[in-house]
Amino acid sequence: MTATTNRTADRRRFFKTGAAATLGWTLGAPRVQGDDTTAGLVQDGAYIEPSQRVPIAAEADVVVCGGGPAGVAAALAAARAGAKTRLLEAHGCLGGIWTSGLLSYILDSGNKPGIMREILAALQARERDARRAPSMYDPEAIKLLLEQMCDEAGVELQLHTQCAAAVRDAVNRLALIVTESKSGREAVAGKVFIDCTGEGDVAHQAGCGWDYGRPETGEAQPMSFVVLLTGIHLDEIRPYVSSLPGDTWAGPKDALAGLIKESSGFGPSYSKPSLFPIRETLFCLMANHEYGLRGFDARDVTKATLQGRAELHRMIDGLRSLGGPWKDIRICSSPERIGVRESRRIHGRYTISSDDIARGAQFDDAVCRCEFPVDVHSTTTDRGKGIEAAPVRAKPFDIPYRSLVAKDVDGLMMAGRCISGDFYAHSAYRVTGNAVAMGQAAGLAAATAAKDGVRPHEIDWADLAKTAPWSGNA
Ligand SMILES: Cc1cc2nc3c(=O)[nH]c(=O)nc-3n(C[C@H](O)[C@H](O)[C@H](O)COP(=O)(O)OP(=O)(O)OC[C@H]3O[C@@H](n4cnc5c(N)ncnc54)[C@H](O)[C@@H]3O)c2cc1C
Repeated sequence: MTATTNRTADRRRFFKTGAAATLGWTLGAPRVQGDDTTAGLVQDGAYIEPSQRVPIAAEADVVVCGGGPAGVAAALAAARAGAKTRLLEAHGCLGGIWTSGLLSYILDSGNKPGIMREILAALQARERDARRAPSMYDPEAIKLLLEQMCDEAGVELQLHTQCAAAVRDAVNRLALIVTESKSGREAVAGKVFIDCTGEGDVAHQAGCGWDYGRPETGEAQPMSFVVLLTGIHLDEIRPYVSSLPGDTWAGPKDALAGLIKESSGFGPSYSKPSLFPIRETLFCLMANHEYGLRGFDARDVTKATLQGRAELHRMIDGLRSLGGPWKDIRICSSPERIGVRESRRIHGRYTISSDDIARGAQFDDAVCRCEFPVDVHSTTTDRGKGIEAAPVRAKPFDIPYRSLVAKDVDGLMMAGRCISGDFYAHSAYRVTGNAVAMGQAAGLAAATAAKDGVRPHEIDWADLAKTAPWSGNA
């Protein structure tokens, strides 16, 4: 038989089995295909998986899920405290929004001792000459730095690995994570788990309750497709560049919005587009808002990604058409993962409230102090396309340890933007300086809980914090 007849026969077979299966599925008739152990059941619009043997590929004292700013800090702190620590990351590098999201700006880091200070010092030592704000960085440089730090600390890192399911034991303690990767479906067992996925995927999979968006409407902050640009020179486009010494916040953004409108014929979906310098000829552009789409829904994330990329290309084509200093402008990198500002806020043993941030709450079990203001990017275009005026103002407030400990499942902590807080509290603490500080506290607490055979909610953070490697360095 030739290759062509082979393909034809295969196609006929596919249509035959495909049609039969479709008929069974649409009629909702339970149908087992093949042998029970290898096929499942289709029932009421769902596929019921057959039971299967999933190998326990690794065991650790502390399992950190998600390797963004919070996850890297959690893994480093746990490993440095002597715990056997496994870090699982869905993408091909560490850093989350810092790297696969291409965001190149670390906010609210000034009062964060420990790992945040180490990262900033290491980045500055490596790139002294760069003309930019001290808390800006090159995503490629931070990728390497984070890998080296994890390696030195003895973190067992596994990239390209998605946490897909979470399994509790008989006493409501999280016992296993099921991962999906090129190695197939595998389980990772642990004594304590830390969800640093941003979306709170693991806590959700484990059955924790969560909130999303505004309580009245469910509207949430938009996602943003950030790109890196080259082919322009800082000295030639200075009036359009944000975060240079002496600039006002709105000045360069309004100038750039005007230029984009003039050259492309449309106003950007984020009305305050920000062009940040990383090097004299390398820039980060944040000019896109994707409204009404959810970061934990694969179809919404896909739609946001396609729309964001298309908008950015139209914008850059427009700027290039101006010629002069813009004649060679190019997108040199787009994100592996669109930036998600807001996602699930997992229910913790304390929920940081708008009242807490308005009064500048202080807690005995503080893990760090958030000094960033309420920062809500318009949740709908009816509210404008920039930053919304908020009914609450934040004074510097403490993030309590209890907001990092899951309420509904034992043995599980959260760090980063998925901790327990309300809509306005989240809009302030979500930035990466806080994510790192939360991560390092969660990592130390998880390592201690694993060593002492207790659960994270049984840890006395106020006491443990006195022995933290960064204590006394605030
Ligand atoms: C466009 C944009 C601009 C922002 N601007 C700033 C700014 O200028 N400065 C600032 O400090 N902050 C800024 N923020 C906020 C900040 O980036 C986030 O809140 C921050 O990323 C929180 O860190 P994180 O570690 O919790 O989450 P993330 O950075 O999102 O990291 C989560 C990690 O988990 C991984 N992951 C997700 N799901 C799974 C899974 N199921 N299995 C395995 N791995 C998984 C992801 O790949 C990722 O690496 C911005 C956010 C956005 C979206």
